[in-house]
Amino acid sequence: MIGAGAAGTIASIAARGAVDDRGGATAVPRDAPSVRLLDGAPKVGLKILVSGGGRCNVTNEAVDERDYESDAPKVVRGTLRGFPPEAVRAFFETRGCPLYAEPLGKLFPTTDRARDVLATLLDATERSGAVLERGARVVDVERDADRFVTRTDDGRAFASRRLVVATGGKSLPRTGSRGFGFELAARFGHAVVSPLPALTPLFLGDDSPLAALAGVTVPATLSLVPRGAPPDQVAGRRFRPLARASGSLLVTHRGVSGPAALDVSGAVGRAIEGGTPVTLEADFVGLVVGESPWSPFRDARKPPGASLPPALGLRPVDGETFRAAFAALVASDPRRSLGVLVARLLPRSLGDALLRRGGLDPAAPPPDPTDPARRLHRALAHVDLRAVGTDGFDKAEVTSGGVPLRELHRTTLESRLVSGLHFCGEVVHCTGRLGGFNFQWAWSSGFAAGRAAARRP
Ligand SMILES: Cc1cc2nc3c(=O)[nH]c(=O)nc-3n(C[C@H](O)[C@H](O)[C@H](O)COP(=O)(O)OP(=O)(O)OC[C@H]3O[C@@H](n4cnc5c(N)ncnc54)[C@H](O)[C@@H]3O)c2cc1C
Repeated sequence: MIGAGAAGTIASIAARGAVDDRGGATAVPRDAPSVRLLDGAPKVGLKILVSGGGRCNVTNEAVDERDYESDAPKVVRGTLRGFPPEAVRAFFETRGCPLYAEPLGKLFPTTDRARDVLATLLDATERSGAVLERGARVVDVERDADRFVTRTDDGRAFASRRLVVATGGKSLPRTGSRGFGFELAARFGHAVVSPLPALTPLFLGDDSPLAALAGVTVPATLSLVPRGAPPDQVAGRRFRPLARASGSLLVTHRGVSGPAALDVSGAVGRAIEGGTPVTLEADFVGLVVGESPWSPFRDARKPPGASLPPALGLRPVDGETFRAAFAALVASDPRRSLGVLVARLLPRSLGDALLRRGGLDPAAPPPDPTDPARRLHRALAHVDLRAVGTDGFDKAEVTSGGVPLRELHRTTLESRLVSGLHFCGEVVHCTGRLGGFNFQWAWSSGFAAGRAAARRP
Protein backbone atom coordinates (compact mmCIF):
# COMPACT_ATOMS: atom_id res chain seq x y z
CA MET A 1 0.00 0.00 0.00
CA ILE A 2 1.23 3.50 -0.76
CA GLY A 3 -0.20 6.29 1.42
CA ALA A 4 -1.38 6.12 5.03
CA GLY A 5 -4.19 8.67 4.83
CA ALA A 6 -7.84 7.80 5.34
CA ALA A 7 -8.05 5.56 2.27
CA GLY A 8 -4.74 3.72 2.76
CA THR A 9 -5.25 2.93 6.45
CA ILE A 10 -8.76 1.55 5.98
CA ALA A 11 -7.54 -0.39 2.93
CA SER A 12 -4.78 -1.96 5.05
CA ILE A 13 -7.21 -2.93 7.81
CA ALA A 14 -9.60 -4.40 5.22
CA ALA A 15 -6.80 -6.28 3.46
CA ARG A 16 -5.86 -7.88 6.75
CA GLY A 17 -9.49 -8.93 7.24
CA ALA A 18 -9.83 -6.95 10.48
CA VAL A 19 -13.07 -5.16 9.56
CA ASP A 20 -16.31 -6.36 7.99
CA ASP A 21 -18.60 -4.49 5.64
CA ARG A 22 -20.63 -3.19 8.60
CA GLY A 23 -17.58 -1.64 10.22
CA GLY A 24 -17.32 -4.28 12.95
CA ALA A 25 -14.00 -5.67 14.15
CA THR A 26 -13.22 -9.20 12.96
CA ALA A 27 -10.48 -11.64 13.92
CA VAL A 28 -7.64 -11.56 11.42
CA PRO A 29 -7.69 -14.87 9.50
CA ARG A 30 -4.61 -17.04 9.80
CA ASP A 31 -4.03 -16.90 6.07
CA ALA A 32 -4.42 -13.10 5.82
CA PRO A 33 -1.81 -11.55 3.52
CA SER A 34 0.96 -9.49 5.03
CA VAL A 35 0.44 -5.78 4.45
CA ARG A 36 3.10 -3.08 4.35
CA LEU A 37 1.83 0.50 4.36
CA LEU A 38 4.41 3.01 3.12
CA ASP A 39 4.01 6.72 3.77
CA GLY A 40 6.46 9.47 2.85
CA ALA A 41 5.51 11.72 5.75
CA PRO A 42 7.37 11.34 9.06
CA LYS A 43 4.05 12.12 10.81
CA VAL A 44 1.09 10.46 9.11
CA GLY A 45 -2.51 11.64 9.06
CA LEU A 46 -1.82 15.37 8.85
CA LYS A 47 -4.78 15.89 6.57
CA ILE A 48 -7.08 14.20 9.05
CA LEU A 49 -5.73 16.44 11.81
CA VAL A 50 -6.46 19.68 9.90
CA SER A 51 -9.79 18.50 8.51
CA GLY A 52 -13.08 20.05 9.51
CA GLY A 53 -11.27 22.89 11.25
CA GLY A 54 -9.53 20.38 13.55
CA ARG A 55 -12.80 18.55 14.29
CA CYS A 56 -12.77 16.12 11.31
CA ASN A 57 -16.11 15.80 9.56
CA VAL A 58 -15.82 12.01 9.29
CA THR A 59 -18.84 11.39 7.07
CA ASN A 60 -22.46 12.43 6.51
CA GLU A 61 -25.70 10.71 7.52
CA ALA A 62 -27.01 10.73 3.93
CA VAL A 63 -24.57 10.03 1.13
CA ASP A 64 -25.15 8.97 -2.46
CA GLU A 65 -23.50 9.26 -5.86
CA ARG A 66 -25.14 12.64 -6.53
CA ASP A 67 -22.90 14.14 -3.88
CA TYR A 68 -19.89 13.53 -6.14
CA GLU A 69 -18.42 14.64 -9.44
CA SER A 70 -17.06 11.55 -11.21
CA ASP A 71 -16.98 9.79 -14.56
CA ALA A 72 -18.98 6.76 -13.36
CA PRO A 73 -21.78 7.53 -10.86
CA LYS A 74 -22.93 3.90 -10.79
CA VAL A 75 -19.51 2.73 -9.65
CA VAL A 76 -19.54 5.45 -6.99
CA ARG A 77 -22.95 4.24 -5.82
CA GLY A 78 -21.85 0.60 -5.63
CA THR A 79 -18.65 1.50 -3.79
CA LEU A 80 -20.50 3.67 -1.26
CA ARG A 81 -23.01 0.91 -0.61
CA GLY A 82 -20.21 -1.58 0.02
CA PHE A 83 -19.07 0.42 3.06
CA PRO A 84 -21.74 3.03 3.79
CA PRO A 85 -21.83 5.81 6.43
CA GLU A 86 -23.44 3.39 8.92
CA ALA A 87 -20.37 1.14 8.59
CA VAL A 88 -18.07 4.11 9.08
CA ARG A 89 -19.98 5.12 12.17
CA ALA A 90 -19.81 1.59 13.56
CA PHE A 91 -16.11 1.37 12.71
CA PHE A 92 -15.28 4.36 14.88
CA GLU A 93 -17.86 3.83 17.62
CA THR A 94 -16.98 0.18 18.26
CA ARG A 95 -13.33 1.19 18.53
CA GLY A 96 -13.88 3.87 21.16
CA CYS A 97 -14.48 6.98 19.07
CA PRO A 98 -18.21 7.86 19.19
CA LEU A 99 -19.61 10.28 16.61
CA TYR A 100 -22.44 12.80 16.72
CA ALA A 101 -24.46 14.36 13.91
CA GLU A 102 -24.94 18.07 13.36
CA PRO A 103 -28.42 19.21 12.23
CA LEU A 104 -27.43 19.04 8.55
CA GLY A 105 -26.14 15.48 8.90
CA LYS A 106 -22.40 16.03 9.20
CA LEU A 107 -20.79 13.53 11.59
CA PHE A 108 -17.99 14.52 13.96
CA PRO A 109 -16.28 12.77 16.89
CA THR A 110 -18.12 13.64 20.11
CA THR A 111 -14.86 15.04 21.46
CA ASP A 112 -14.69 17.40 18.45
CA ARG A 113 -11.03 16.39 18.14
CA ALA A 114 -9.67 15.16 14.82
CA ARG A 115 -6.75 13.61 16.67
CA ASP A 116 -9.13 11.08 18.24
CA VAL A 117 -10.21 9.97 14.76
CA LEU A 118 -6.59 9.58 13.71
CA ALA A 119 -5.63 7.73 16.89
CA THR A 120 -8.51 5.27 16.39
CA LEU A 121 -7.48 4.67 12.82
CA LEU A 122 -3.80 4.14 13.60
CA ASP A 123 -4.64 1.89 16.54
CA ALA A 124 -6.89 -0.26 14.32
CA THR A 125 -4.15 -0.39 11.69
CA GLU A 126 -1.60 -1.58 14.22
CA ARG A 127 -3.99 -4.14 15.75
CA SER A 128 -4.69 -5.55 12.28
CA GLY A 129 -1.02 -6.45 11.98
CA ALA A 130 -0.37 -4.21 8.98
CA VAL A 131 3.13 -2.75 9.11
CA LEU A 132 3.11 1.05 8.85
CA GLU A 133 6.37 2.62 7.68
CA ARG A 134 6.59 6.37 8.21
CA GLY A 135 9.07 8.52 6.29
CA ALA A 136 9.16 5.98 3.43
CA ARG A 137 8.46 8.01 0.30
CA VAL A 138 7.86 5.88 -2.78
CA VAL A 139 9.83 7.16 -5.74
CA ASP A 140 9.33 4.38 -8.26
CA VAL A 141 7.22 1.31 -9.01
CA GLU A 142 8.05 -1.30 -11.63
CA ARG A 143 6.01 -4.22 -12.85
CA ASP A 144 8.26 -7.26 -12.97
CA ALA A 145 6.55 -10.41 -14.35
CA ASP A 146 3.74 -10.99 -11.84
CA ARG A 147 5.13 -8.72 -9.12
CA PHE A 148 5.37 -5.03 -8.34
CA VAL A 149 8.70 -3.70 -7.12
CA THR A 150 8.19 -0.56 -5.07
CA ARG A 151 11.23 1.60 -4.32
CA THR A 152 11.49 4.19 -1.56
CA ASP A 153 13.71 7.26 -1.31
CA ASP A 154 15.94 5.57 1.26
CA GLY A 155 17.01 2.98 -1.33
CA ARG A 156 14.83 0.07 -0.23
CA ALA A 157 12.77 -2.09 -2.59
CA PHE A 158 9.66 -4.12 -1.74
CA ALA A 159 8.13 -6.83 -3.90
CA SER A 160 4.41 -7.56 -3.79
CA ARG A 161 1.82 -9.34 -5.88
CA ARG A 162 -0.68 -6.54 -5.43
CA LEU A 163 -0.30 -2.83 -4.91
CA VAL A 164 -2.86 -0.35 -3.59
CA VAL A 165 -2.26 3.30 -4.47
CA ALA A 166 -3.80 5.65 -1.88
CA THR A 167 -1.54 8.65 -2.33
CA GLY A 168 -4.28 11.31 -2.23
CA GLY A 169 -4.36 14.27 -4.58
CA LYS A 170 -2.33 17.48 -4.75
CA SER A 171 -4.25 19.62 -2.31
CA LEU A 172 -2.48 20.98 0.74
CA PRO A 173 0.90 19.59 -0.41
CA ARG A 174 2.53 20.17 2.99
CA THR A 175 0.54 17.18 4.27
CA GLY A 176 2.51 14.91 1.91
CA SER A 177 0.06 14.73 -1.01
CA ARG A 178 1.94 15.96 -4.05
CA GLY A 179 0.36 14.04 -6.89
CA PHE A 180 2.70 11.02 -7.08
CA GLY A 181 -0.25 8.68 -7.64
CA PHE A 182 -1.31 10.58 -10.76
CA GLU A 183 2.18 10.24 -12.26
CA LEU A 184 2.25 6.55 -11.39
CA ALA A 185 -1.18 5.91 -12.92
CA ALA A 186 -0.19 7.76 -16.10
CA ARG A 187 3.01 5.74 -16.33
CA PHE A 188 0.93 2.55 -16.22
CA GLY A 189 -1.18 3.86 -19.10
CA HIS A 190 -4.17 5.44 -17.33
CA ALA A 191 -5.76 8.50 -18.94
CA VAL A 192 -5.64 10.57 -15.77
CA VAL A 193 -8.23 13.38 -15.74
CA SER A 194 -6.14 16.52 -15.19
CA PRO A 195 -5.96 17.26 -11.46
CA LEU A 196 -7.40 20.65 -10.50
CA PRO A 197 -7.98 22.36 -7.15
CA ALA A 198 -11.53 21.93 -5.83
CA LEU A 199 -13.38 23.08 -2.72
CA THR A 200 -11.31 26.21 -3.02
CA PRO A 201 -12.16 29.95 -3.12
CA LEU A 202 -13.06 31.55 -6.45
CA PHE A 203 -11.46 34.58 -8.06
CA LEU A 204 -13.75 37.17 -9.63
CA GLY A 205 -12.85 39.81 -12.22
CA ASP A 206 -12.46 43.50 -11.34
CA ASP A 207 -15.74 44.11 -13.15
CA SER A 208 -17.64 41.74 -10.81
CA PRO A 209 -20.66 43.31 -9.10
CA LEU A 210 -19.17 42.02 -5.84
CA ALA A 211 -15.85 43.89 -6.30
CA ALA A 212 -15.37 46.29 -3.38
CA LEU A 213 -17.83 44.39 -1.19
CA ALA A 214 -15.23 42.36 0.74
CA GLY A 215 -16.55 41.23 4.09
CA VAL A 216 -20.18 40.82 3.04
CA THR A 217 -21.65 37.40 3.92
CA VAL A 218 -24.95 36.40 2.40
CA PRO A 219 -26.88 33.22 1.58
CA ALA A 220 -26.97 32.53 -2.17
CA THR A 221 -27.50 29.89 -4.81
CA LEU A 222 -24.73 29.69 -7.40
CA SER A 223 -25.31 28.10 -10.81
CA LEU A 224 -22.70 27.45 -13.44
CA VAL A 225 -24.47 27.81 -16.80
CA PRO A 226 -23.41 27.89 -20.44
CA ARG A 227 -22.59 31.47 -21.37
CA GLY A 228 -25.50 33.22 -23.04
CA ALA A 229 -28.20 30.91 -21.63
CA PRO A 230 -31.34 33.07 -21.38
CA PRO A 231 -32.35 33.83 -17.76
CA ASP A 232 -35.89 32.53 -18.37
CA GLN A 233 -34.44 29.22 -19.47
CA VAL A 234 -32.04 29.08 -16.51
CA ALA A 235 -34.95 29.74 -14.15
CA GLY A 236 -37.02 26.95 -15.73
CA ARG A 237 -37.71 23.76 -13.82
CA ARG A 238 -36.20 21.54 -16.48
CA PHE A 239 -32.93 23.44 -16.75
CA ARG A 240 -29.92 21.48 -15.52
CA PRO A 241 -26.93 23.72 -14.73
CA LEU A 242 -23.39 22.40 -15.05
CA ALA A 243 -23.14 22.80 -11.27
CA ARG A 244 -25.31 24.34 -8.60
CA ALA A 245 -24.80 24.93 -4.89
CA SER A 246 -26.59 26.86 -2.19
CA GLY A 247 -25.19 28.15 1.04
CA SER A 248 -23.39 30.96 2.67
CA LEU A 249 -21.30 33.13 0.34
CA LEU A 250 -18.45 35.21 1.73
CA VAL A 251 -17.08 38.05 -0.39
CA THR A 252 -13.28 38.28 -0.14
CA HIS A 253 -10.79 40.81 -1.51
CA ARG A 254 -10.18 38.69 -4.60
CA GLY A 255 -13.48 36.89 -5.06
CA VAL A 256 -15.78 34.66 -3.05
CA SER A 257 -15.45 31.87 -0.52
CA GLY A 258 -17.86 30.03 1.80
CA PRO A 259 -19.70 26.74 1.18
CA ALA A 260 -21.61 27.82 -1.95
CA ALA A 261 -18.45 29.04 -3.69
CA LEU A 262 -16.33 26.07 -2.58
CA ASP A 263 -18.92 23.54 -3.77
CA VAL A 264 -18.98 24.86 -7.35
CA SER A 265 -15.26 25.64 -7.55
CA GLY A 266 -14.26 22.28 -9.06
CA ALA A 267 -16.73 22.65 -11.92
CA VAL A 268 -15.77 26.30 -12.46
CA GLY A 269 -12.07 25.41 -12.61
CA ARG A 270 -12.68 22.55 -15.04
CA ALA A 271 -14.82 24.71 -17.36
CA ILE A 272 -12.24 27.50 -17.39
CA GLU A 273 -9.39 25.02 -17.95
CA GLY A 274 -11.26 23.42 -20.83
CA GLY A 275 -12.10 26.78 -22.42
CA THR A 276 -15.85 26.14 -22.05
CA PRO A 277 -17.72 29.46 -22.17
CA VAL A 278 -19.63 29.61 -18.90
CA THR A 279 -21.22 32.12 -16.59
CA LEU A 280 -21.32 31.75 -12.81
CA GLU A 281 -24.68 33.16 -11.81
CA ALA A 282 -25.71 34.07 -8.28
CA ASP A 283 -29.29 34.12 -7.09
CA PHE A 284 -29.44 36.17 -3.92
CA VAL A 285 -33.19 35.84 -3.36
CA GLY A 286 -34.02 32.28 -4.40
CA LEU A 287 -32.12 30.35 -1.86
CA VAL A 288 -33.71 26.96 -2.35
CA VAL A 289 -34.67 27.28 -6.00
CA GLY A 290 -34.21 23.99 -7.83
CA GLU A 291 -33.96 20.43 -6.66
CA SER A 292 -30.21 20.37 -6.46
CA PRO A 293 -28.92 17.50 -4.32
CA TRP A 294 -26.01 19.85 -3.66
CA SER A 295 -28.20 22.10 -1.61
CA PRO A 296 -27.13 22.00 2.03
CA PHE A 297 -30.62 23.20 2.89
CA ARG A 298 -32.36 19.92 2.19
CA ASP A 299 -33.00 19.72 5.88
CA ALA A 300 -35.34 22.54 6.81
CA ARG A 301 -34.37 22.49 10.46
CA LYS A 302 -31.66 25.03 9.83
CA PRO A 303 -32.87 28.50 8.84
CA PRO A 304 -30.89 29.27 5.72
CA GLY A 305 -30.49 32.98 6.22
CA ALA A 306 -31.58 35.28 8.98
CA SER A 307 -31.77 38.22 6.58
CA LEU A 308 -34.66 36.65 4.66
CA PRO A 309 -38.16 37.64 5.73
CA PRO A 310 -40.57 34.78 6.49
CA ALA A 311 -42.33 35.28 3.14
CA LEU A 312 -39.11 34.33 1.36
CA GLY A 313 -38.12 31.75 3.93
CA LEU A 314 -37.60 28.07 3.44
CA ARG A 315 -39.81 27.52 0.44
CA PRO A 316 -38.41 27.51 -3.07
CA VAL A 317 -38.46 31.09 -4.31
CA ASP A 318 -39.04 31.28 -8.04
CA GLY A 319 -39.61 34.48 -9.96
CA GLU A 320 -43.38 34.46 -9.42
CA THR A 321 -43.06 33.87 -5.69
CA PHE A 322 -40.46 36.57 -5.42
CA ARG A 323 -42.57 39.08 -7.28
CA ALA A 324 -45.63 38.36 -5.13
CA ALA A 325 -43.60 38.58 -1.93
CA PHE A 326 -41.93 41.79 -3.01
CA ALA A 327 -45.25 43.34 -3.98
CA ALA A 328 -46.48 42.55 -0.45
CA LEU A 329 -43.35 44.16 0.97
CA VAL A 330 -43.97 47.31 -1.08
CA ALA A 331 -47.64 47.41 -0.06
CA SER A 332 -46.68 47.16 3.61
CA ASP A 333 -44.42 50.21 3.34
CA PRO A 334 -45.26 52.08 0.14
CA ARG A 335 -43.22 55.22 0.87
CA ARG A 336 -39.85 53.48 1.11
CA SER A 337 -37.27 53.61 -1.68
CA LEU A 338 -36.30 50.53 -3.66
CA GLY A 339 -32.90 50.41 -1.93
CA VAL A 340 -34.46 50.43 1.54
CA LEU A 341 -36.90 47.66 0.64
CA VAL A 342 -34.24 45.47 -0.94
CA ALA A 343 -32.14 46.03 2.19
CA ARG A 344 -34.78 43.96 4.03
CA LEU A 345 -33.62 41.00 1.92
CA LEU A 346 -29.91 41.65 1.47
CA PRO A 347 -27.10 43.63 3.06
CA ARG A 348 -27.59 47.25 1.96
CA SER A 349 -24.24 47.61 0.17
CA LEU A 350 -24.86 44.44 -1.84
CA GLY A 351 -28.46 45.34 -2.67
CA ASP A 352 -27.50 48.81 -3.90
CA ALA A 353 -24.63 47.44 -6.01
CA LEU A 354 -26.90 44.84 -7.63
CA LEU A 355 -29.66 47.37 -8.31
CA ARG A 356 -27.25 49.78 -9.99
CA ARG A 357 -25.74 46.96 -12.02
CA GLY A 358 -29.27 46.08 -13.14
CA GLY A 359 -29.97 49.67 -14.18
CA LEU A 360 -32.24 50.37 -11.19
CA ASP A 361 -31.89 53.38 -8.90
CA PRO A 362 -31.83 52.44 -5.19
CA ALA A 363 -33.11 55.92 -4.29
CA ALA A 364 -36.11 55.67 -6.61
CA PRO A 365 -39.52 54.32 -5.60
CA PRO A 366 -39.96 50.57 -6.14
CA PRO A 367 -41.37 49.40 -9.47
CA ASP A 368 -45.14 49.52 -9.66
CA PRO A 369 -46.29 46.31 -7.91
CA THR A 370 -48.68 45.61 -10.76
CA ASP A 371 -45.63 45.55 -13.02
CA PRO A 372 -44.15 42.03 -13.25
CA ALA A 373 -40.94 43.54 -11.81
CA ARG A 374 -38.88 41.27 -13.97
CA ARG A 375 -35.99 43.69 -14.00
CA LEU A 376 -35.79 43.64 -10.23
CA HIS A 377 -35.83 39.86 -10.05
CA ARG A 378 -33.24 39.65 -12.80
CA ALA A 379 -31.02 42.16 -10.97
CA LEU A 380 -31.09 40.11 -7.75
CA ALA A 381 -31.45 36.55 -9.02
CA HIS A 382 -29.39 36.34 -12.23
CA VAL A 383 -26.17 38.05 -11.26
CA ASP A 384 -23.15 37.27 -13.41
CA LEU A 385 -20.34 37.10 -10.85
CA ARG A 386 -17.62 37.24 -13.56
CA ALA A 387 -15.70 34.23 -12.24
CA VAL A 388 -12.19 34.17 -13.70
CA GLY A 389 -10.47 31.32 -11.84
CA THR A 390 -9.98 29.33 -8.67
CA ASP A 391 -7.45 29.54 -5.89
CA GLY A 392 -4.62 26.96 -5.97
CA PHE A 393 -3.83 23.62 -4.37
CA ASP A 394 -2.52 25.34 -1.22
CA LYS A 395 -6.06 26.46 -0.39
CA ALA A 396 -7.98 23.54 -1.92
CA GLU A 397 -9.57 20.93 0.34
CA VAL A 398 -9.53 18.36 -2.46
CA THR A 399 -8.26 17.64 -5.93
CA SER A 400 -10.78 17.08 -8.67
CA GLY A 401 -9.69 14.73 -11.46
CA GLY A 402 -7.49 11.65 -11.17
CA VAL A 403 -7.71 8.04 -12.27
CA PRO A 404 -11.00 7.58 -14.17
CA LEU A 405 -13.35 5.09 -12.56
CA ARG A 406 -14.22 3.65 -15.96
CA GLU A 407 -10.61 2.40 -16.14
CA LEU A 408 -11.08 0.49 -12.86
CA HIS A 409 -13.07 -2.67 -12.23
CA ARG A 410 -16.19 -1.93 -10.28
CA THR A 411 -16.27 -3.38 -6.72
CA THR A 412 -12.48 -4.05 -6.64
CA LEU A 413 -11.17 -0.73 -8.00
CA GLU A 414 -8.47 -2.77 -9.71
CA SER A 415 -6.93 -1.32 -12.85
CA ARG A 416 -8.37 -2.64 -16.10
CA LEU A 417 -4.91 -2.09 -17.61
CA VAL A 418 -2.59 -3.60 -14.97
CA SER A 419 -3.80 -6.55 -12.96
CA GLY A 420 -3.08 -6.39 -9.24
CA LEU A 421 -2.95 -2.58 -9.19
CA HIS A 422 -5.73 -0.90 -7.16
CA PHE A 423 -6.55 2.77 -6.59
CA CYS A 424 -8.61 4.37 -3.81
CA GLY A 425 -9.32 7.71 -2.16
CA GLU A 426 -8.63 11.09 -3.66
CA VAL A 427 -6.26 9.77 -6.36
CA VAL A 428 -9.41 8.48 -8.11
CA HIS A 429 -11.57 10.83 -10.21
CA CYS A 430 -14.35 11.18 -7.65
CA THR A 431 -14.76 14.45 -5.78
CA GLY A 432 -17.34 15.10 -3.10
CA ARG A 433 -18.89 18.33 -1.95
CA LEU A 434 -18.41 19.83 1.51
CA GLY A 435 -19.93 17.88 4.38
CA GLY A 436 -17.90 14.72 5.04
CA PHE A 437 -18.35 13.28 1.55
CA ASN A 438 -14.67 13.15 0.67
CA PHE A 439 -13.75 11.14 3.74
CA GLN A 440 -16.71 8.86 3.04
CA TRP A 441 -15.30 8.20 -0.43
CA ALA A 442 -11.89 7.51 1.12
CA TRP A 443 -13.39 5.00 3.60
CA SER A 444 -15.64 3.25 1.05
CA SER A 445 -13.11 3.08 -1.78
CA GLY A 446 -10.31 2.12 0.63
CA PHE A 447 -12.43 -0.72 1.99
CA ALA A 448 -13.24 -1.96 -1.53
CA ALA A 449 -9.65 -1.81 -2.77
CA GLY A 450 -8.15 -3.28 0.40
CA ARG A 451 -10.54 -6.20 0.61
CA ALA A 452 -10.06 -7.02 -3.06
CA ALA A 453 -6.28 -6.77 -2.79
CA ALA A 454 -6.31 -9.48 -0.13
CA ARG A 455 -7.64 -12.03 -2.59
CA ARG A 456 -5.17 -14.40 -4.12
CA PRO A 457 -4.43 -13.40 -7.73
C1 LIG B 1 -7.95 21.65 5.10
C2 LIG B 1 -8.75 20.42 4.71
C3 LIG B 1 -9.89 20.09 5.41
C4 LIG B 1 -10.65 18.98 5.03
N1 LIG B 1 -11.75 18.66 5.76
C5 LIG B 1 -12.50 17.59 5.41
C6 LIG B 1 -13.60 17.18 6.20
O1 LIG B 1 -13.86 17.72 7.29
N2 LIG B 1 -14.36 16.15 5.74
C7 LIG B 1 -14.07 15.48 4.57
O2 LIG B 1 -14.80 14.57 4.20
N3 LIG B 1 -12.98 15.80 3.86
C8 LIG B 1 -12.19 16.83 4.25
N4 LIG B 1 -11.07 17.13 3.52
C9 LIG B 1 -10.72 16.26 2.39
C10 LIG B 1 -10.10 14.96 2.92
O3 LIG B 1 -9.11 15.29 3.87
C11 LIG B 1 -9.47 14.15 1.78
O4 LIG B 1 -10.43 13.95 0.77
C12 LIG B 1 -8.99 12.80 2.29
O5 LIG B 1 -8.04 13.00 3.32
C13 LIG B 1 -8.36 11.99 1.17
O6 LIG B 1 -7.81 10.82 1.74
P1 LIG B 1 -6.70 9.99 0.98
O7 LIG B 1 -6.34 8.90 1.92
O8 LIG B 1 -7.16 9.64 -0.37
O9 LIG B 1 -5.49 10.99 0.78
P2 LIG B 1 -4.55 11.75 1.86
O10 LIG B 1 -5.26 11.95 3.14
O11 LIG B 1 -4.04 12.94 1.15
O12 LIG B 1 -3.39 10.73 2.14
C14 LIG B 1 -2.41 10.42 1.19
C15 LIG B 1 -1.18 9.91 1.89
O13 LIG B 1 -0.27 9.43 0.90
C16 LIG B 1 1.04 9.80 1.26
N5 LIG B 1 1.84 9.86 0.05
C17 LIG B 1 1.66 10.63 -1.05
N6 LIG B 1 2.60 10.38 -1.97
C18 LIG B 1 3.40 9.41 -1.44
C19 LIG B 1 4.56 8.74 -1.90
N7 LIG B 1 5.11 9.01 -3.08
N8 LIG B 1 5.14 7.81 -1.09
C20 LIG B 1 4.60 7.53 0.12
N9 LIG B 1 3.51 8.15 0.62
C21 LIG B 1 2.93 9.07 -0.16
C22 LIG B 1 0.88 11.16 1.94
O14 LIG B 1 1.96 11.43 2.80
C23 LIG B 1 -0.45 10.98 2.69
O15 LIG B 1 -0.25 10.53 4.00
C24 LIG B 1 -10.26 18.20 3.91
C25 LIG B 1 -9.09 18.52 3.23
C26 LIG B 1 -8.33 19.61 3.62
C27 LIG B 1 -7.06 19.92 2.86
